[in-house]
Amino acid sequence: MSTEAFDAVDVIAAKRDGQELSDAQIGWVIDAYTRGVVADEQMSALAMAIFLNGMERREIASMAQAMIATGERLSYAGLTGPDGAALPTADKHSTGGVGDKITLPLGPLVASYGVAVPQLSGRGLGHTGGTLDKLEAVPGWSSSLSDEAMRRQLSEVGAIVAAAGDTLVPADKKLYALRDVTGTVECVPLIATSIMSKKIAEGTGALVLDVKVGSGAFMKTLDKARELARTMVDLGTDAGVRTVALLTDMSTPLGLTVGNALEVEESLEVLNGGGPADVVELTVALAAEMLAGAGVTGVDPARNLANGKAMDVWRRMIAAQGGDPDAALPVARHSEVVTAQADGVLVGLDAYGVGVASWRLGAGRARKEDPVQAAAGIRLHAKPGELVRRGQPLMTLHTDTPERFPRALEALEGAAVIAPQGDRPARDSIVLERIA
Ligand code: URA
Repeated sequence: MSTEAFDAVDVIAAKRDGQELSDAQIGWVIDAYTRGVVADEQMSALAMAIFLNGMERREIASMAQAMIATGERLSYAGLTGPDGAALPTADKHSTGGVGDKITLPLGPLVASYGVAVPQLSGRGLGHTGGTLDKLEAVPGWSSSLSDEAMRRQLSEVGAIVAAAGDTLVPADKKLYALRDVTGTVECVPLIATSIMSKKIAEGTGALVLDVKVGSGAFMKTLDKARELARTMVDLGTDAGVRTVALLTDMSTPLGLTVGNALEVEESLEVLNGGGPADVVELTVALAAEMLAGAGVTGVDPARNLANGKAMDVWRRMIAAQGGDPDAALPVARHSEVVTAQADGVLVGLDAYGVGVASWRLGAGRARKEDPVQAAAGIRLHAKPGELVRRGQPLMTLHTDTPERFPRALEALEGAAVIAPQGDRPARDSIVLERIA
């Protein structure tokens, strides 16, 4: 006779029939799935029932707590800097986008103001890129740090970017992989619990969420993004993490580069005080929120981009993790240029199409265990709002494996929309809303 508290089929059927699950049912099913007692096919059915019937706020909070309880909870209490003074911590999480390299300049920038940034990141899957894949384009850099090495680097340098260890929310590792192959990713309760369980377990004191909206994001509409942001902010606040969310535009790629080494290169431009306006705007907006959450006010984060202080932290952060900040970045062996088909104003450049094309060029992976090409990706030569002339280069595609060009070009069909010249739309702010 089973000693388990519940029967998986009963829990699945309850959610299938639109009932609220009790805290005990949720706690059991998450724990039992992590232990291998609830099978993948049963958890898939439950994930689909949650996808279709949703969860109440209490159920979502209960699920996040149950997921955290499957692993280790880190703490940076008592962290001090080189001068012995207490270091507050702040982190940022993006729900995933195309050309989203913001973590790279942001961590060093925030750390340059005396706030430690314990960034545990993931790899890209599907059309969205992952921070670890980007940083691995830097020769020698390693994402693997022990808890002790993380603490030491945070204290001495102020910023880390590391792979989450196996003990950080093991339930999410299994569940996310399952959702990815069962059509249950784009679901507010499942995304919110996945992201927030990891961020709460990571032990940050303050958290800023960059919730992407638009074709290149999981949330395609402002309403859905708002619901996700509200849910995550409430989960963080209830767990004692000072949490705010910015809703930001992901209808077109961020900056002018998509792909691992190309995005590192653009991040270095930002750290050198230059870089595309949208990347700088978002980096500074998120830095201001992280600093405020950590109690640092009255500073203009743009200053430490301009004066090189953020770049100093970047160099130390890369070197501390085995990377050579002066090494040349990899360059792809083959390239192909896509040109404008007409004269006019570029009114749209679809983030999803560009993300899929970059992924097909080799910048992303189809399965978790696939390697990525560091140099593959896309460099944009024009952004929405700009005037273009027929035949002018719109973007350059890069890959080491030229047989990938046709499929990448297919993904780009219809991605660039050129309208006859009229009024050029003004560039809107990339930050659409703030939710606290
Ligand atoms: N990122 C995560 O970590 N989890 C999700 O469910 C979606 C994006």
